[in-house]
Amino acid sequence: MSERTLAIIKPDAVKKKVTGKIIQRIEDEGFRISRMEMIRPTRGLAEGFYAVHKSKPFYSSLTEFMSSGEIVVLLLERDGAIAHWRSVMGATDPAVAAPGTIRRAFGFSIERNAVHGSDGPDTAAWEIDYFFKNK
Ligand code: UDP
Ligand code: MG
Repeated sequence: MSERTLAIIKPDAVKKKVTGKIIQRIEDEGFRISRMEMIRPTRGLAEGFYAVHKSKPFYSSLTEFMSSGEIVVLLLERDGAIAHWRSVMGATDPAVAAPGTIRRAFGFSIERNAVHGSDGPDTAAWEIDYFFKNK
């Protein structure tokens, strides 16, 4: 059954000019891109998006990084979209992400890891609303 997930191409990947390669991979994996927008998030927008990680030691650095440049936010649709996009992204830390995953190919560090993906149906619905509601 078709499912929706939220993907983000993070500032490190946009700066490296691999946006096109990542979007091609998304299409090759059978996703339909139903919304897509490039934005420069404010610190506040990044903080709100990652509010679930507020108590983590990496929160401040992460939200500074995410607001350091342009990002591409995508609404993706496919059968099993959430799990499939997580498997195409690879593990959070590019150093241990499997060969062939986007994070292994393009990630720089556990923070600057090229892409984001929702981790479950509830977070996907919340994250899609966060960027695309009322637009
Ligand atoms: N992150 C970080 N340090 C860590 C763990 C995570 O900077 O030790 C960053 C990284 O950019 C990651 C994001 O915080 O993608 C959200 O972390 P999460 O555990 O949700 O990983 P993800 O779901 O993105 O794989
Ligand atoms: Mg996560």
